[in-house]
Amino acid sequence: MASAFIESAFYPSEIVALFHYKFLPASSSSALAKTLRTATKSKIRCYEFLNMTSRSFAAVIQELNDELRDAVCLFYLILRGLDTIEDDMSIPIDKKEVLLRNFHNNIYKRGWNFKESGPKEKDRQLLMEFDLVIEEFLSLKKCFQNVIAEKCKLMGHGMADFANNASYRNYGVKTVKDYDLYCHYVAGLVGLGLSDLFIGSGLENDELSEVPDLSKSMGLFLQKVNIIRDYLEDILQNRRFWPKEIWSQYVDNLADLKEPGHEKQAIECLSAMCLDALKHVPDCLTYMNMIRDPKIFNFCAIPQVMAIATLALVFKNYNIYKKVVKIRKGEAVKLIQKSTNIYAVVGIFRQYTQTIITKNDAKDPNFLRISIACGQIEQWCQTYLKSHPFSSATKTLTKSTPKQELNFIDAQLFILFIVFLLATICWIIKFFGLEWELLGKHLSFFTQ
Ligand code: CA
Repeated sequence: MASAFIESAFYPSEIVALFHYKFLPASSSSALAKTLRTATKSKIRCYEFLNMTSRSFAAVIQELNDELRDAVCLFYLILRGLDTIEDDMSIPIDKKEVLLRNFHNNIYKRGWNFKESGPKEKDRQLLMEFDLVIEEFLSLKKCFQNVIAEKCKLMGHGMADFANNASYRNYGVKTVKDYDLYCHYVAGLVGLGLSDLFIGSGLENDELSEVPDLSKSMGLFLQKVNIIRDYLEDILQNRRFWPKEIWSQYVDNLADLKEPGHEKQAIECLSAMCLDALKHVPDCLTYMNMIRDPKIFNFCAIPQVMAIATLALVFKNYNIYKKVVKIRKGEAVKLIQKSTNIYAVVGIFRQYTQTIITKNDAKDPNFLRISIACGQIEQWCQTYLKSHPFSSATKTLTKSTPKQELNFIDAQLFILFIVFLLATICWIIKFFGLEWELLGKHLSFFTQ
């Protein structure tokens, strides 16, 4: 956590956000703790697994209302189990295919678990104790069970189709169409399943089921940003998700992008990949604008704003070929705290789209297409703001509540504290600097 404060040293608003995050924990985590105090052993274990397997989703899932929270938690754990089998290269392909295609049946078998994961699989423990996940899955209401099992079936079959394809195994994803299909299986179906769970909880309107393409885009946007960001990690583990149809326009081998001498191609290929992800943004905004429940809104919006911030960060950023590139923790915390209504989320999307426009370069072959894609996002935002000039969201933003005033006072106090701290550090450095100078002279005397 200390490193997060140092990273955000030049961003006072992030320091304030981090301070709040660190010292004023969300009320919901204590609400969940209270629920878990009287919960079954298997449910407690499921939430432990959620925290162990997901860095980013655990926090947003825990904020949901009780009934929906359990359903989304189990949806996540079941798909994580399926994904662990898909990723495991120690399972022979014939066996893997059967496992993937039957996973949606296994989740109905009390006592089923899987103990043959490769030793390197980080989530192998989840599969070893999968009987506990099944126990909780079977205690969900029927309509939630049906949604989860149906999406699990489609995803398992989709993964099996790709795993069975020799060309995919050897060379990775081929065409942009294949890329979209793969992302649909592993993420689009999650978006569709979540919409169905929201409707099943009674908290969201049936109309979400009438816009499957929007639900799909929510998943595809997140997945594609992760695939772009994780280029290096994936290539080092011999996974190739960037479609050949795109990278072959720049290099002969996907792995060449990270090699010296290909910097220009690497940046241009990265632009093409970012452009492909940007296409989904207007759909995501339209979807989020349809959400009514504030907790579900938060749950949907937080990963989306993280994704647009990450996309703006990786765009034109050669570092993705050299190391892990991530947004600062302070920036992430600030985004989480801000994403409470569509008005704020539109503001965040505009801000990062502007960053992309500023970084866009006329010499890039995709310059014009990127400008158009950003223009479409900007147009969506403008249209929204014009049609909702006096929305309730706007009002809550302009009228400061007692809590906001308190935050403002906290912020002022905190900045004063930081100034005092910096002054003390400067004084210490100056004092010891002089001492060190003297010590240095003594040392150089002895070493001469
Ligand atoms: Ca996978």
